[in-house]
Amino acid sequence: MVRPHPLANCYRSGSFGLSFEIYPPKTADGDELLWQHVAPLAKYRPAFISCTYGAGGSTRSRTLELCEQISRRFQVDATAHFTCLGGTVDELREWLNWAKQHGVKNIMALRGDPPAGQATFSQVTGGLRYANELVDLIHREFPEFGIGVAGYPEKHPQAPSLEVDIANLKRKVDSGADAVYTQLFYVNDAFYRFRDSCVAAGVDVPIVPGVMPILNFAQIKRITALCGAELPAGLSSKLEAAQDDKDEQFRIGVEFAIEQCVDLQRNGVPGIHFYVLNRATACEQILQAMGLPGE
Ligand SMILES: Cc1cc2nc3c(=O)[nH]c(=O)nc-3n(C[C@H](O)[C@H](O)[C@H](O)COP(=O)(O)OP(=O)(O)OC[C@H]3O[C@@H](n4cnc5c(N)ncnc54)[C@H](O)[C@@H]3O)c2cc1C
Repeated sequence: MVRPHPLANCYRSGSFGLSFEIYPPKTADGDELLWQHVAPLAKYRPAFISCTYGAGGSTRSRTLELCEQISRRFQVDATAHFTCLGGTVDELREWLNWAKQHGVKNIMALRGDPPAGQATFSQVTGGLRYANELVDLIHREFPEFGIGVAGYPEKHPQAPSLEVDIANLKRKVDSGADAVYTQLFYVNDAFYRFRDSCVAAGVDVPIVPGVMPILNFAQIKRITALCGAELPAGLSSKLEAAQDDKDEQFRIGVEFAIEQCVDLQRNGVPGIHFYVLNRATACEQILQAMGLPGE
């Protein structure tokens, strides 16, 4: 069977791929607002829109409901994130069958983060320990799915070194992953070094940078502290100087993201995976500035 991962195909055909990542809102009003924000992004004909799977495995059915809506409302392929925290191996299989019934085209296969308040990852009894095991399960038993995996330009926080982390990334590719989507980063050189090291280690699938436009300073300080991404000093001090002016922080964030994305495109990335945070305005401004056509 031809492996269908859309961004892998974009990469092979030389076109520039876009994907947008959303998360399940907690309320019905949040859902309505989400669709209002997804609608303008769908006009950019993304390779897919993905929906996250809650930390600790908390959105078992919500992720699939939202994926179904993505394909029904916008005729865009849906990618469901899924983690080893989804249950025992039998429960993982059951969910993957369910994903198929919901029209999901690709799975972002992850180990998963522990739920809020829990510091370390603990494996479900009868479940899987690492993402490469989940990739292997999907690749062997659900060959109709394209498989994306996570990569970390500045190293996964728990990995002893970037080298070891890249060797573990290669296990995921060797197990059947079709493309790598990176953790957010703000230092493009870190991405380029990571990409070179991956290629040298034999990672031979598209490596797609993950970009999270900064919407406000407090939020991004929290996120980067958790994932270990460096905020360049110049960017931090500009955001700091904007103090409580949220509009100015947003403007600085978009201006930075435009420069970042233009530089990535110039340096031959196959596409960009945007962490949308369920708000479209920043992405729309970036895509317009990059001259990428929407409908
Ligand atoms: C694009 C993207 C999307 C994400 N979406 C979600 C989401 O929807 N829900 C969610 O809960 N989290 C999500 N995450 C976060 C992710 O779950 C965490 O970063 C998690 O801590 C690691 O997941 P992983 O799939 O990279 O794990 P793994 O690849 O299993 O790696 C985890 C750690 O173990 C090491 N390791 C890996 N394999 C082995 C092995 N075989 N032997 C020894 N060590 C190994 C790695 O070096 C790393 O330090 C996402 C991350 C990214 C980048």
